Amino acid sequence: MVESIYPSTRAEREQWIKKANYNLFNLNSDQVFVDLLTDSGTGAMSDQQWSAIMSGDESYAGSRSYSELKASIEDIFGMPYFLPTHQGRAAENVLFSVLVKENDIVPGNAHFDTTKGHIEFRKAHAVDCTIDAAYDTSVEHPFKGNVDLKKLEKVISSNPGNKVPFIVLTITCNTAGGQPVSIQNMREVKSLADKYGIPLMIDSARFAENAYFIKEREEEFRDHSIREIIAEMFSCADMMTISAKKDGIVNIGGFIALKDEEIYKKATVFNILYEGFITYGGMAGRDMAALARGLYEACDYSYLKGRVRQVGFLGKLMDEAGIPVQKPFGGHAIFLNALKFLPEVPREEYPAQTLAVELYKEAGIRGVEIGTIMADRDPDTRANRYPDLELVRLAIPRRVYTDNHMRYVAAAAIKVWERRKEITRGYEITNEAPIMRHFTVDLRPLS
Ligand SMILES: *Cc1c(COP(=O)(O)O)cnc(C)c1O
Repeated sequence: MVESIYPSTRAEREQWIKKANYNLFNLNSDQVFVDLLTDSGTGAMSDQQWSAIMSGDESYAGSRSYSELKASIEDIFGMPYFLPTHQGRAAENVLFSVLVKENDIVPGNAHFDTTKGHIEFRKAHAVDCTIDAAYDTSVEHPFKGNVDLKKLEKVISSNPGNKVPFIVLTITCNTAGGQPVSIQNMREVKSLADKYGIPLMIDSARFAENAYFIKEREEEFRDHSIREIIAEMFSCADMMTISAKKDGIVNIGGFIALKDEEIYKKATVFNILYEGFITYGGMAGRDMAALARGLYEACDYSYLKGRVRQVGFLGKLMDEAGIPVQKPFGGHAIFLNALKFLPEVPREEYPAQTLAVELYKEAGIRGVEIGTIMADRDPDTRANRYPDLELVRLAIPRRVYTDNHMRYVAAAAIKVWERRKEITRGYEITNEAPIMRHFTVDLRPLS
């Protein structure tokens, strides 16, 4: 699929972003030239997937497309039970309705925002146990998504009054900058989980990119195929949730997959209540058919190599110009370190949001803040939570943009970098939702 994009003027963009209350989510897509807001649901489907769309089976119960998807999930992940959902957060909603109770503690490596949202919405606590190296953008570590086992064991053993219903491993770890988790770490987390009798769940949106990094960086797996590595990763897990909009390379969809029949049976009740009957749960038959193929296409080594190379190409252009970017480069996005890019802008004025708006005004590029606005307020004190990093994420859609687009993005970022000293003030919030405020927040520039 090819679409035209409109190269607007700076004057137009200044009008539009003002009208959008300086929230990039409020822009219309035709007001954006290169859209790096997210890699979620924005990938281009293949000829195989489009032909699957045409032959999808829309039966309410027992659809052929459901069976195809079930077979690919069992083949790739080794999970015999599965429930389709309309996207990743719906999978979290259904599964956590079974597993998470008030005051529970759910430790993991930097939970994704909707995962944290679904835990905290149930008055439970998401505790981040990622290794410290994840929070220093200048440190080169091959697996910055890894869990710190000491932190994890401390959380489990020092809160005897709180139940730990499961541990979450997010692969790749989005919040820490699209960073992978090693198999060695997964095995260690699994054996700690077994010691305490706690199940391990993998939040699997970018499972294939994680497997690619393992092949590149973990000695033991250098000669393994992507499929073999994925099988090894999921042999450590008891269950998974996934947003199929990422490595599933479809525009909408998600699922829960599990090895335990008991939990599956309990989850079917919530799936029917919130999503739909168990053989479609929020997805059209044609979308399940496209996903059944997309999961396999994501495991293709040449595709993964090309994708990760393109992300790295953008990162390298910026890095060579001196722009502070998270390293090593992640699998789906480049992350700008706003605290180093705009050191004059006070934390209370949201430096990462300020930088994201500057990039838009400069060249019509839409990225997203991963910083204080996204971190939400502390649910108890309602004070701003200041995360260790203030990042602007530039996420690259799958199979959509060329290297020329990447050169354009880098040139724009370099222009902002060259005039960074002039940017000293940020924004204040004029309106916000009580949870996941970044989607709908309204802002006003300070001067
Ligand atoms: C995208 C994502 C989710 C949520 O999925 P949606 O499809 O956006 O609802 C959960 N976890 C991770 C790691 C994700 O990347």
